Amino acid sequence: MKGELVIAGLGPGPESWVTPAARAAVEAAEMILGYTPYVNRIAARPGQVIEASDNREELARAKRALAFAAEGKRVAVVSGGDPGVFAMAAAVFEAIEESPALSEGVDIRVEPGVTAMLAAAARIGAPLGHDFCAISLSDNLKPWATIEKRLRLAGQADFVIALYNPASKARPQQIKQAFEILSGVLPPEAVVVFARAVGRSDEEIDVTTLARAADMPCDMRTLVIVGSRATRQVKSADGRAWVYTPRSERS
Ligand code: SAH
Repeated sequence: MKGELVIAGLGPGPESWVTPAARAAVEAAEMILGYTPYVNRIAARPGQVIEASDNREELARAKRALAFAAEGKRVAVVSGGDPGVFAMAAAVFEAIEESPALSEGVDIRVEPGVTAMLAAAARIGAPLGHDFCAISLSDNLKPWATIEKRLRLAGQADFVIALYNPASKARPQQIKQAFEILSGVLPPEAVVVFARAVGRSDEEIDVTTLARAADMPCDMRTLVIVGSRATRQVKSADGRAWVYTPRSERS
């Protein structure tokens, strides 16, 4: 019997931000694997097996999921946000690249989700209205020198920059280093958005400037958006402050 492996995105938090397709894939699965906080969001139905693991075990989890699917099981691997953005989908394909036979007889599908930068952007207006990029600040999977180079060049190229994994208990300083690098190539008044726990009950959105950004609290539940030279603030008639990047740019 042919097994199935669906790599599904659960969005940043609220159930209403999970696509019906991702929800259906999770409901249909016999086995669900994922990082503990993500699988904790799933209420298992009778007969469903849920396997939680640490976020440093992505490749091992991917291989395990493929092995269950190769036995003929319907398996779902879940990620927060989108499974293809700094998440499990790439780990599954990495496992397949290493040993293609792992995927024999397995139907593979990726179900997208709302990634954190899109949810954060929607809360504050439209900061991603013009060209943008996303950079993970975690140096667990790449050298810090690469991150520094990408930050500098992205700032120089005037992309709006979404920063994933900006800080953790083990890496409290790197976000400050990132702001220092960006201060070398962007004006001090560049707009910076801190979006923490978007879609959760403790959600917090703060807007500041690059000059003040290093003083802001920042943790692993925060998504940071650094504006380009064109990103600005605007107030709607009700007095609410929004951040947006105009869609057009003249030479
Ligand atoms: N696959 C996920 C990203 C995984 S990397 C996605 O597409 O969103 C984990 C990082 O994503 C966190 O460190 C944080 O920067 C960001 N993130 C995930 N969920 C978030 C949320 N609800 N609010 C703010 N940032 C979030």
